[in-house]
Amino acid sequence: MSINKQQYQKILTELDGKATLVAVSKTKPVEDIQALYDLGHRDFGENYVQELKDKYEQLPKDINWHFIGHLQSNKVKYIAPFIHLIHGIDSEKLLKEVNKQAAKNDRVINCLLQVHVSAEETKFGFDETELSSLLTRIENKELEFKQVSLKGLMGMASFTEDNDLIIGEFNSLKTIFDKHYPATATLSMGMSADYRFALDAGSNMVRIGSLLFGSRI
Ligand SMILES: *Cc1c(COP(=O)(O)O)cnc(C)c1O
Repeated sequence: MSINKQQYQKILTELDGKATLVAVSKTKPVEDIQALYDLGHRDFGENYVQELKDKYEQLPKDINWHFIGHLQSNKVKYIAPFIHLIHGIDSEKLLKEVNKQAAKNDRVINCLLQVHVSAEETKFGFDETELSSLLTRIENKELEFKQVSLKGLMGMASFTEDNDLIIGEFNSLKTIFDKHYPATATLSMGMSADYRFALDAGSNMVRIGSLLFGSRI
């Protein structure tokens, strides 16, 4: 139950203002989040709706909460009033629900579309063809999500020791990103084990948990 301040400063130095650090606090107590908050940190990432809601209620209201897990449509309503950025939009159905709940709360919700680039079957997300077709239909106003702001893309590399595979996956996500978004958009990729590769590949938002808060059980 403590945070690694040295590691935090080291990561910030490495990011050098070129990428946003989302501190992934899932399963960690509010005291740890508060400790990092007290150092000036404001962006925190969570994976579970109920846990996020509880933490939101207990912690300072100027935290930017990022939802980085797999979000079920029927749970969007619980985070819609306050969520800062939803990283894992992986279906049109989910996008529609976020739009609906954002309207109910009279806000615009920032979202990233999740792209499946890893070799693993289990990872969620659109493949490149699905992504292109969705973005085209939005562009042509066949689909409209007035209460959603699509800020960019998110992806995860395979969980592997094979660095070349990880680098290849991050590079292919960057290529897809460049095709559809300006450099000012958000590209969320990189976790504790692979964020350096992600930064080299052009990530501008990293999601780091265990390096900051210690490993999870
Ligand atoms: C848990 C999680 C992270 C952070 O993982 P660490 O290895 O602890 O840095 C990042 N992104 C997603 C989507 C996660 O689920």
